[in-house]
Amino acid sequence: MAGQPTIAVIGGGLGGLATTIALARAGFTVDVFERAPQLGEVGAGINISPQATKTLLALGLGAELAAVGNAMSGQIQRSMYTGEQLVDTALGGQGRSADRYGAPYYVFHRADLLTVLAGAVDSARIHLDHHCTGLVEDPGGVTLEFANGRRHKANIVVGADGIHSQIRQHLYGADEARFTGQMVWRALVDGKTLPPDLLGPHGFCGWIGKGSHLMTYYLRGTDVINITTQSDADSWVEEGWSSKGDPGEMRARFPGAAPQLQQLLDAVTDCSKWGLFGREPSDDWGRGRIQLIGDAAHPMLPNAGQGAAQAFEDAYALARWLDTRRDDPEAALAGFREVRIPRAHAIQRQSHLNSKLVHAGDWEQRQETFKQRERQGDTALGMNWIYAYEPTQEWNQRREYPLSFAPGAPS
Ligand SMILES: Cc1cc2nc3c(=O)[nH]c(=O)nc-3n(C[C@H](O)[C@H](O)[C@H](O)COP(=O)(O)OP(=O)(O)OC[C@H]3O[C@@H](n4cnc5c(N)ncnc54)[C@H](O)[C@@H]3O)c2cc1C
Repeated sequence: MAGQPTIAVIGGGLGGLATTIALARAGFTVDVFERAPQLGEVGAGINISPQATKTLLALGLGAELAAVGNAMSGQIQRSMYTGEQLVDTALGGQGRSADRYGAPYYVFHRADLLTVLAGAVDSARIHLDHHCTGLVEDPGGVTLEFANGRRHKANIVVGADGIHSQIRQHLYGADEARFTGQMVWRALVDGKTLPPDLLGPHGFCGWIGKGSHLMTYYLRGTDVINITTQSDADSWVEEGWSSKGDPGEMRARFPGAAPQLQQLLDAVTDCSKWGLFGREPSDDWGRGRIQLIGDAAHPMLPNAGQGAAQAFEDAYALARWLDTRRDDPEAALAGFREVRIPRAHAIQRQSHLNSKLVHAGDWEQRQETFKQRERQGDTALGMNWIYAYEPTQEWNQRREYPLSFAPGAPS
């Protein structure tokens, strides 16, 4: 290819923006196209685990992240019904994330994280109101068609357009994401109006129950408390995959809540309701000059807190591969897929297994499993292999993960 390849990223979510930054830092000309008239994220919190933090630190965003994120010292898990503490992840030799893994485990308000990423992209390269509706491939690249009538030609296209990806559909036909049997409510409440010890020593508390669990943690210092619930559900009957929720309905879903949890639920005045959709792990991540990343490539249940984290790993690795093989972008993308697919699949499986640990099986036994993990020092709850990964050093190293691979997962 004469000169440097030009790159178009479709989707200005967390994955698309991180990819745009990584590619621009590597010296590529990269444009990002977002269908919405403004960049935006849902009003909720998000966890970014230490190995994913490392990719953002490598992009030079450390100071900006530290300014808006809460670096967590650990989390506790409690019984949803008695409030009894089952496990403290800071115990058992795990220690603080930054000491153990070399980077903070952050929680952010999603809008703050998106703002940090958007601030690192040349605004002239962000094209809002560009809903990609079609792609025409030729030997030199891809012409993108948008609902506003515009067209754009690039040598390489990155589909970062989420779980219902149009780019995926162009490549592989319509394969609608399916309902996973899990639904969530999300809410933010005022952190200053509730007792400061409500969320335990780390300001981060999970509540484990029968067929459901909740994650509650502080955001923006202690200004805001994020509440995310996840419950088993037979079907998803709403028209879309998210809708405005009813706080009364949300509270009623957790009968017999411990007093501390009830206090949190009572503080909810506004919430949203989501069906969780997914796909089986698939090798269909792209071909030729088109590459999928993030949820477009590997949607996963939120039980491992890794959806965006994996999109950040994708972003970093993609830029390194394309930088290293400037002579042959198609070979670079093939190399990217060879390394990234096994890891993302293993994490999709871990996420599925985590949902069993927190939801399924005998309730007494599950409580005992958590306590046992603490006694055994496995307070990372099977996630150590994910957090200990070094994305800036291992981006070109393929590892095999047998299908049964999920250290620490319940049998
Ligand atoms: C309840 C819940 C909790 C979660 N918690 C965590 C967590 O703690 N940690 C974590 O790492 N992950 C978490 N995740 C997962 C994480 O939110 C997603 O994996 C991540 O946001 C995916 O980012 P993305 O950029 O790939 O896709 P998206 O965020 O879906 O972004 C896609 C973007 O593309 C745009 N777009 C779509 N189609 C087009 C088109 N045709 N043309 C132009 N633009 C288009 C969309 O408007 C959107 O802006 C959670 C998910 C859920 C549901």
